[in-house]
Amino acid sequence: MSKIHTIDPTSLAPKNSSLKNSKSNDKEQKTNLLGLSKAQLADFFESIGEKKFRATQVMKWIYQYGVTDFYQMTNLSKKLQSKLDKLAEVVPPTVKFKQFSEDGTRKWVFEVTGGSLVETVLIPAEDNKQHGRKTLCISSQVGCALDCSFCSTGKQGFERDLTASEIIGQLWVANQSYMEDVPVTERENRVTNVVMMGMGEPLLNYRPVVASMLLMLDDHAFGMSKRRVTLSTSGVVPRMYKLAEDIDVALAISLHAPNDELRNELVPINKKYPLADLIAAAKSYVYDSNPRQKKHVTIEYVMLAGVNDTDEHAHQLATLLKDLPSKINLIPFNPFPHAPYGRSSNNRIHAFSNILNQAGFVCTIRQTRGDDIDAACGQLVGQVADRTRRSEKWKEAVAKRHQQNRKVI
Ligand code: SAH
Ligand code: SF4
Repeated sequence: MSKIHTIDPTSLAPKNSSLKNSKSNDKEQKTNLLGLSKAQLADFFESIGEKKFRATQVMKWIYQYGVTDFYQMTNLSKKLQSKLDKLAEVVPPTVKFKQFSEDGTRKWVFEVTGGSLVETVLIPAEDNKQHGRKTLCISSQVGCALDCSFCSTGKQGFERDLTASEIIGQLWVANQSYMEDVPVTERENRVTNVVMMGMGEPLLNYRPVVASMLLMLDDHAFGMSKRRVTLSTSGVVPRMYKLAEDIDVALAISLHAPNDELRNELVPINKKYPLADLIAAAKSYVYDSNPRQKKHVTIEYVMLAGVNDTDEHAHQLATLLKDLPSKINLIPFNPFPHAPYGRSSNNRIHAFSNILNQAGFVCTIRQTRGDDIDAACGQLVGQVADRTRRSEKWKEAVAKRHQQNRKVI
């Protein structure tokens, strides 16, 4: 598992911020303004002899109008435009390929610095209206170190953390895809919701993830509502407490099992931070972070046939969550090659959901969308190469399970 560092809350700047590079490296290197916080951008303008307020002007151009060409930033003087053109740039991650599905789902595969590939998926509300809800599922890491047994990203192993510009760049590109051929002054951001539910464990790439989410909320950048930005975690407990101090966003917890024995098997980080600690951290997030606000956490629960989906599991789950203000989201398992699980039947999912409803919980069943472009949740591994031997070892383990006559698809 990745090492957990203590973060200085006053400094949420991306670790690889190019601000420093631009001063120390050769003069030719331009500073990428995408992903810099408002404070960093203000520092940048000061460092080039300009007023700090330029930061908010330029942020609006970049994040609200999708403009990367400084000469199109018409409220800057010609002199400043050409100075910026020499010293700075606005560079999103490179789109390797994109696929737009019939149902409105859009998927991008990005090639980030170093050649790694990551995926981003946009899922519209069912009616797919022009100004309707559009939820973007953003990746935070290349691969993931946490190795949950039902997750294709986990099977890929961990490669590296994404930078703030690579994280916020996913949202920027998704919004940009609705701006093509639209005159600059008529452009508007269309993504209404963000979920940090793509590849990776966001709380193990803490600093760039929080810096990116601050840009999502910032009125000079994307100006999204804090209830429409959701971070999903498998339960990195110390970082959940830290998150509550640093930013107010919605929290989702990938629970998937109602007891430690099963959760240890499905979500191995549970061995380090067992359920009692996780539930305590979730309660603290709900009650302590902003006591004036009525909040809840979303509990994600993947439905694995015959593994975690019995009536008994539903009753255990209701007991476990009884004092935690929560909404439960049941996720039909998305199979992938060699997965050792099957998806619970619709009848089973509804029976499970009914038990939770009767116990007083709001329980929803996640719609699987974008199946035709492999964009459904948990299939985000796509074309990404397996750079570790983990999937090989895993296939061997699955073969062993076959022999043990366990339920395998
Ligand atoms: N690492 C974070 C966020 C990324 S995973 C986390 O675990 O919360 C986003 C969600 O997709 C999690 O709830 C995860 O458990 C779920 N998921 C992963 N693989 C899946 C699969 N094969 N089918 C359905 N859901 C899956
Ligand atoms: Fe990582 Fe989340 Fe997948 Fe677990 S479910 S392996 S934490 S991405």
